[in-house]
Amino acid sequence: MQNQLFIYNTLSRTKEKFEPINKGMVGLYVCGPTVYSDVHLGNCRTFISFDLIYRYLLHLGFKVRYVRNITDAGHLEGDRDEGEDKFEKKAKLEQLEPMEIVQKYTLGFHDVMREFNTLPPSIEPTATGHICEQIEMIKHIIVNGFAYEVNGTIYFDVEKYNSQYKYGQLTNRQLEDLVAGTRELNGQDEKRGRLDFALWIKAKPEQIMQWLSPWGWGFPGWHIECSAMSSKYLGNTFDIHGGGMDLQATHHTNEIAQSQACNHKTPVKYWMHTNMLTVNGVRMSKSAGNGFLPDQLFSGKHPLLEKGYSPMAVRFFMMQTHYRSTLDFSNEALKASEKAFKKIINGLITIKILTHNEDTASFDEELNSDILRLCSLCYAGMNDDFNSAITIANLFNLLKYINSFHHNILPLASLNKNSFETMKRTYIVFVEDILGLKEEKFFKPNLIDDVLEILLQTYKNAKEIKDYKTVDLIRAKIKEEGIIIKDTKNGVEWAYEE
Ligand code: AMP
Ligand code: ZN
Repeated sequence: MQNQLFIYNTLSRTKEKFEPINKGMVGLYVCGPTVYSDVHLGNCRTFISFDLIYRYLLHLGFKVRYVRNITDAGHLEGDRDEGEDKFEKKAKLEQLEPMEIVQKYTLGFHDVMREFNTLPPSIEPTATGHICEQIEMIKHIIVNGFAYEVNGTIYFDVEKYNSQYKYGQLTNRQLEDLVAGTRELNGQDEKRGRLDFALWIKAKPEQIMQWLSPWGWGFPGWHIECSAMSSKYLGNTFDIHGGGMDLQATHHTNEIAQSQACNHKTPVKYWMHTNMLTVNGVRMSKSAGNGFLPDQLFSGKHPLLEKGYSPMAVRFFMMQTHYRSTLDFSNEALKASEKAFKKIINGLITIKILTHNEDTASFDEELNSDILRLCSLCYAGMNDDFNSAITIANLFNLLKYINSFHHNILPLASLNKNSFETMKRTYIVFVEDILGLKEEKFFKPNLIDDVLEILLQTYKNAKEIKDYKTVDLIRAKIKEEGIIIKDTKNGVEWAYEE
């Protein structure tokens, strides 16, 4: 199965057969969140998509080192290496230390990722924890002649780099076009070229987040952290690098340039980019102010939401669309996904209790081969560039059969035991291990209280009509769970058995 996986590579703009550089370990690097604020649902889409990719690679039997960084320094308000530092700005606003901001939003991010049932990465390095590595890399780039210093700030020389390599390959753009689309330099600019970008930025004296470098006190530019951390943990050339499509043109383009300028190697074999989550066709983003926070979505407390949706229903909503297509948010789409998700989970509960007795002679050849065909189509979907939409459509086709067996519309005996076991294994593995979906017994926090209430009411009703058989049964069953029922002057009460 491993050698049938095809991945769309942004760099070559084609689907390529996945052949890992080193069979012993697949390297996967995903650009993580910038932790100066809460992640919104758009960010979650990207991280959930890569969770699906990671899970499938693991399922295929690859050993994967999955690195997802935390950006906790080096983000300025402006997109041209200018403006206030986002962490320091937020720290002032919330009257906290910048590193308290980092801690607060990192913990929040982890909570959200856990709610969406994403697997933790193997390594989660931070930019501030890798200042030395970034400085070392910048030193190499300067020695190789691709960067220059102005006043304690180091800029990458894009034109010089382009004379030896090709800048802008990821988006297939020519340097001249890129230059033409960028603001002209003015007298105040320190940069030599319009596309040059900062590797290291001189700090203002009042800045809290600054480190000593060979060029004085400063802080790293945003792009250098991912080049430094990916090469540290995955080597100078590794298998897969991912992130949202919005990172293609600048962040990832500059990562490629930095790595080549440093060690003359192409850093990544397969570049993968997830498409955007949109609201009414507009990309969800922090700056556009159209971002739902996951908590708002779960609670339903947002003007655009008609009700709340559980994390698994939202995860399923995302999986129903291929990661390279845009996904537009709407109440209708979410409601439909919630319904479909419940069907999938009911199927999971059903298939887990369904058992097949030994083979009889009466099995149906056509039925057996159709079920095996559907199982292999589940794999075909994921092997075709992780197309979970196709896989889910085939899980629904399997589900029709599962329900027919469950309701005895089709006799289980018409299926041979091997086909049955393949169907059962495929359904469970795809739903739980690969799509990462699970039953949400405790999503409704009051569910247990409500059910207990109903039980006590049934107990009272039974007593009133002197149905002592039911009364005793409820008493005995609930006692097994460590709860005793008390008949008091105030009515029926319950307590934990002491
Ligand atoms: P940030 O915290 O802004 O650096 O973003 C973290 C990740 O979320 C990056 O990989 C972005 O490309 C991705 N991202 C941002 N907005 C969206 C969106 N609307 N839909 C999908 N992914 C997004
Ligand atoms: Zn990055």
